[in-house]
Amino acid sequence: MRALLLLLAAGSAAGWQRSNNAAGMPQQQHARSSRRLAPRRALKDTFEARMMSLPGKDELRRALSADGFVSAKAVDVTRAVREICQLQDCLPLAATALGRAVASTTLVADGLEAEETFQVRFAGDGPLRGVFSVSNGALESRAYVGNPRVDLSPQGVAAGVGRGELQVVRLKNLPGETQATTYSSVVEIKTGEIAEDINHYVATSEQREGALSAGVSLDENGAVDACAGWRVELLPGAPQDVADHLIENIKKAATTSSTSLLKEGNTCEAILRVLLDGMDADYAFDVRRPQFKCTCDISRVYRTLALLPRHEVDEILDSNEKIEAKCEFCARTYSLGPEEIRAKLDAGVATD
Ligand SMILES: [Zn+2]
Repeated sequence: MRALLLLLAAGSAAGWQRSNNAAGMPQQQHARSSRRLAPRRALKDTFEARMMSLPGKDELRRALSADGFVSAKAVDVTRAVREICQLQDCLPLAATALGRAVASTTLVADGLEAEETFQVRFAGDGPLRGVFSVSNGALESRAYVGNPRVDLSPQGVAAGVGRGELQVVRLKNLPGETQATTYSSVVEIKTGEIAEDINHYVATSEQREGALSAGVSLDENGAVDACAGWRVELLPGAPQDVADHLIENIKKAATTSSTSLLKEGNTCEAILRVLLDGMDADYAFDVRRPQFKCTCDISRVYRTLALLPRHEVDEILDSNEKIEAKCEFCARTYSLGPEEIRAKLDAGVATD
């Protein structure tokens, strides 16, 4: 049973976690379940306020300096991040880490083909127990935090993430190949502030010079009321004076709250105008729509079970009346009886 838990939390079937209160479960799991449920009751009075959706739509906008040497993108992923945090019942620290991750991966994924992906996992030793986000070229994202209920607000995100590895996985289409190719790399977590680490990774692995920033704002109920991010890139051949100008603008942007700009009713263009101030930039690019999208379904549950040694699965089935698998991304629970699982596994499940 321990093997099942570990696999679901850490393997390629990322985001899956089994939750089951049926008889015969180990003590550790009961403790885990009740920890996750208890704070939900305490928050009931603010639940309705937290579930209110916000007006407007998430967006990604781009701009280019007149000389063509500086490109910029900005995202508003407020609604997507708010929804994910509501589904996962995130406290502020987890919501902040998760929002920064979603804004960052969305910005890096823009420009990829629809089915290509950019995925990060901060496998740190901090109490958040890992931060995961993946976005594709269609700007669909999903994300989760290992422990959404940790409360460490004064120490901030870096303390919540801790030390450890940043694991990056990219799915890329190669010319002439019918299936996307997976590229994985692992680097040390440098700051744990999420956007800085992702920017450092992109800058060093792809020799792309630029800056990446992401921020989250929460209302008095602890719900996300703004999540913004931006990325600027100095394009090849840029002269030194353009680089200097950009650095000055980045300093200005660092003192301007992107989330405040959005909360004042601005679009992402307001963020871009700070970054490209004095560059006579073109802002007339198509607006893109990022969104939260979970890819879970019942076949994924079977695939996860099929990856385990059969005798372990049988042991679990023998001691439980029902098996429940909970998707950590969207909180959907799949409930299956032992007989239907046995029948499906006997018939064979494709695990790729
Ligand atoms: Zn799901």
